Amino acid sequence: MKVYLDNAASTRVDKEVITAMLPYFNKEYGNASSLHDFGVEARKAIEKSRGIIAKKLNVEPEEIIFTSGGTESNNFAIKGIAFENKNKGNHIITCKIEHECILNPCKWLEKQGFKITYLGVDKYGFVNPEDVKNAITKDTILVSIMHANNEIGTIEPIEDIGKICKERGVYFHTDACQSFTKVPINVKNIDLVTISSHKIHGPKGVGALYVKNGTKITQLQHGGGQEKNLRSGTENTPGIVGFAKASELITKKDVNYITKLRDKTIKEVMKITDVLLNGPSGNKRLCNNANLSFKYIEGESMITLLNESGIACSTGSACSSKSLEPSHVLLAIGRPPEIAHGSLRVSLSKDNTMKDVSYFIKNIKPIVKKLREMSPLKG
Ligand SMILES: *Cc1c(COP(=O)(O)O)cnc(C)c1O
Repeated sequence: MKVYLDNAASTRVDKEVITAMLPYFNKEYGNASSLHDFGVEARKAIEKSRGIIAKKLNVEPEEIIFTSGGTESNNFAIKGIAFENKNKGNHIITCKIEHECILNPCKWLEKQGFKITYLGVDKYGFVNPEDVKNAITKDTILVSIMHANNEIGTIEPIEDIGKICKERGVYFHTDACQSFTKVPINVKNIDLVTISSHKIHGPKGVGALYVKNGTKITQLQHGGGQEKNLRSGTENTPGIVGFAKASELITKKDVNYITKLRDKTIKEVMKITDVLLNGPSGNKRLCNNANLSFKYIEGESMITLLNESGIACSTGSACSSKSLEPSHVLLAIGRPPEIAHGSLRVSLSKDNTMKDVSYFIKNIKPIVKKLREMSPLKG
């Protein structure tokens, strides 16, 4: 049996998505900037897709800029706002539990003379909007706080943060890669939103940045002037079509179903002794995220043994699992390094079943027991 429980890292591309994409590989394969019928058909498909994504976010189509994914959108938002607005100020506010593709552009900007405030979070991973308010100075040009955390599923109070930013005339960006289609978003007080296709059963290598009309931002990529001259490069027609299709497929019913799988996973795993839940419980937690720390053992050993049983999950984010450093997110919520090392992220999707969850539970129990018996940390 193969059970995929790593949907926060990537998801299976839906059949309907593949079907929608196929013609744009080998029938309507023209360059969307070309004037012949091949080009016109590609352009039509892209603009239709832009309309679909815009509708999902309740924004105007011209406010959607297609990119190569979440990483590019986040880089574009952070650096694009920083460069274009540096005459107004050099201060940016973000938080300690952001994805690396927010934190690393910020670290890089520090070397270019920008000042970055990395706000702390509480023990569940919440940013306090008051902290944002207090951190804003006359030099602040941008606040970037994620919508839902990719490791522990915390849904941040972005509406409150957005209000504060609006009042102070500071741009507000949110990384919504994990929440898009799962958690409703109201962009009234949000200027920039990052979304990614492969987290929602679309293809990899495509995403978008919502840029509110009137926002002063500069492009990072110069070239043929595509995407309102904000992101040059021949548009990824099949990818964009697939992304739009994927965004239409997830329903409220799916979200309720995934929530049930999550709650069952958490409830059953918490029956094991010396297990801690990382992140909040209830409706402030992303519907598909369960993150648990198992005392006295290492996450990597659990992943290896689970993998031998055909179960795929993760220790934290897919990116940080390459390094041996404990997760920056778990450290930020106050977990000591040894507890952070013993963490497991189970991330579900509409493709999972209760049977998958049962199979996981059946396998995790003896694995934890075995690893604890071998553990030098215990006792
Ligand atoms: C996956 C993810 C990203 C990166 O998106 P890519 O499309 O893989 O580049 C950024 N932020 C969060 C919160 C994510 O989950």
